[in-house]
Amino acid sequence: MEAETVQNRSTLVNRLATQKEWDLIVIGGGATGLGIALEAVSRGYSALLVEQADFAKGTSSRSTKLVHGGVRYLAQGDIQLVREASIERGLLWRNAPHLVKNQTFIIPIYTWWDRLKYTIGLKLYDWISGRLSLGASVFIPRNKALFKLPNIKAEGLVGGVLYHDGQFDDSRLAINLVQTIIEKGGVALNYVKVNGLLKDNGQFISGVKVTDVETNETYTCKAKAVINATGVFVDDILHMDNPAGSKSITASQGVHLVLDKKFYPSDDALMIPATSDGRVLFAVPWHGKVVVGTTDTPVKEASLEPQALEKEIAFILENVSRYFVEQPKRSDVLSVFAGLRPLAAPQGGNQKTKEISRSHKIMVTPSHLFTILGGKWTTFRKMGEDMVDRIEKELQWPHKNTATRQLAIHGAMANVNLNDPLYFYGSDTVKVKAMMNGHANQWLSTSLQIHEAQVIWAVKHEMARTVEDVLSRRTRALLLDARESIRMAEQVATIMAVALGRDEVWVREQIASYIKLAEGYVLS
Ligand SMILES: Cc1cc2nc3c(=O)[nH]c(=O)nc-3n(C[C@H](O)[C@H](O)[C@H](O)COP(=O)(O)OP(=O)(O)OC[C@H]3O[C@@H](n4cnc5c(N)ncnc54)[C@H](O)[C@@H]3O)c2cc1C
Repeated sequence: MEAETVQNRSTLVNRLATQKEWDLIVIGGGATGLGIALEAVSRGYSALLVEQADFAKGTSSRSTKLVHGGVRYLAQGDIQLVREASIERGLLWRNAPHLVKNQTFIIPIYTWWDRLKYTIGLKLYDWISGRLSLGASVFIPRNKALFKLPNIKAEGLVGGVLYHDGQFDDSRLAINLVQTIIEKGGVALNYVKVNGLLKDNGQFISGVKVTDVETNETYTCKAKAVINATGVFVDDILHMDNPAGSKSITASQGVHLVLDKKFYPSDDALMIPATSDGRVLFAVPWHGKVVVGTTDTPVKEASLEPQALEKEIAFILENVSRYFVEQPKRSDVLSVFAGLRPLAAPQGGNQKTKEISRSHKIMVTPSHLFTILGGKWTTFRKMGEDMVDRIEKELQWPHKNTATRQLAIHGAMANVNLNDPLYFYGSDTVKVKAMMNGHANQWLSTSLQIHEAQVIWAVKHEMARTVEDVLSRRTRALLLDARESIRMAEQVATIMAVALGRDEVWVREQIASYIKLAEGYVLS
C-alpha cells in the first residue's frame, strides 16, 4: 500500500467508478474475504474487495489469536481439518514471521490417565503436521510444570504436557493482507457497503451496488464473479440474491477476558482441555497481557459489536479461578471482547455449536453467487485457494495454480525482536521509528507503549479512518486495556484530524462515539 494511494483514499474510491469490469468482487474484509482477494490478485486476476466497516471489524479482530492445528478438533476425530490447519499454520509462520510466533502451550495434568491420553494425543498432533510441525510435544514432570506455570494450583498436579502451536495478532495480519493485495494491483476499500446485487437479464449475477459510507456516494461495479465472504452476515447477501432462501449460517459467540500478566506470569500458554461445559479454555500471553477464553454460546442475531453476556464472563472467571492461585475479580479485567463464529448451519439434529465442524464450505447459487461459510483464521489462505479454484471451475476459466503458498505478506521479516514494542510492524518497524525520531516524549500510552507516530502511520499507510480503527485494530489498545484506550481517545482524534484534514466537529464526534463503544469493553 503506497503512502500516496492511502493518503488519498479517493484515488482508490475512484476505481469504483472508472474500472469497467473486475474479474472478481469480494464482499467482506475479514480473514475470509482477504484470503480470497489475495489469492485472486496473486493469480493475476483483477479484484476489488469491499468492507462495510473497517477491515477485520467483525470476527476477524476478536479471535483467540491462535494459528493452530486445533487440538480440540483432534479430540473430535476431525483429522482432515487438523492436517489442513497444521499445514496452513506452517505456511503462515513462514509467510508472516513478524506476526506469527511459535508458542509453547502446557496442559496441566492431574491424573495418570490424562497423562497417557494427552501425551499420545499430542504426539499424534505433531505427527499430523509432519515437517511443518513447530516443535515436538513432551511430558514435563511436576516440578518443571510448577516452574513454568507460576500461579497454577499445585495440589494433585502430576506434571504437564508441553506442545507447540502458533500465536498471532489477527487484525494486524488483516491490515498487512490489505497492503499486500493493494501492492499486487488489487483494490481493497473499507467503509464501502454492498447494498444490492446486479443481474444480467435478471439471471446471472454481474456485479454489486455499493455505497461509500463516508460520502454516501453510490456506485455500480461490474464483475465476472461476485463472492460473499461476509461471515455471520452471509445470509443478508444470499437474501439479496434469493429473498426466499433458507438460513445457511448459525452464529456462536465467544468471549475473551484480558488480564494483567501478574495473574499468569508465564511465557507458556495454558490450555485446559475440558472446562465445566466441556470446551477448551486458553490463557495466552499477548502483547504483555494475558488473553483468557473462550465461551461458545449460540446467538440468534448477528451484530458487528456483539456484547459479552454476564454468564459468559462468570464462566471464564470461574474456570480460571480453578487453576490460578491469585484469582482475578471482575474489577481486574482490563478488557472484555466478544466475537461471533460463523458456523455452517447443522444438518438437523441437536448438534451443539462446539460440535459443528470448523471446516469451510463453498456454496454456489444458480445465479452464480459464490458464498463461503465457516472456516477459521488459520486456514484463510486455503479458503481463498479453494474459492478461486471453484470459481475457475464453475465459470470455465482456464485454471491457474495457487501463488500464495510461498507469498511473503507485507511486513514479513524473520527474527523480529519480540521485546521491541513495535515488533509487529515487521519490516515497517524502522519506518515507524523514523517517524518517532525527535519526538521521543510523545508516547500516548506508556503502559501500552503506543506512540503518536503510530497514529500518523496508521492514517497514512494503513487506511485508518476513525479513532476506533487506530485504537482497536491498528494498535490493540481497546483489547489490551479499554480504560486506558478511552483516556487516549482525545489525543488520537486530534492527531488524526490533522492527518486526515478533518475539523473540530469530527474530533468531537469521534471522541464521543469511541467512548460509547469502548465502554462496552469495560467491566463495571
Ligand atoms: C471467539 C472466537 C475465537 C476464535 N479464535 C480463533 C483462533 O484462535 N484461531 C483461528 O484460526 N480462528 C479463530 N476463530 C475463527 C476466526 O476468527 C473466524 O473464522 C474468522 O475471523 C472469520 O472471518 P470472516 O472473514 O469469515 O468473517 P468476519 O471477520 O466477520 O468478516 C466478515 C466481514 O463482512 C463484512 N460485511 C458484512 N456485510 C457486508 C456488506 N453488505 N458489504 C460489505 N461488507 C460486509 C463485515 O463488516 C465483516 O467485517 C475464532 C472465532 C471466534 C468467534
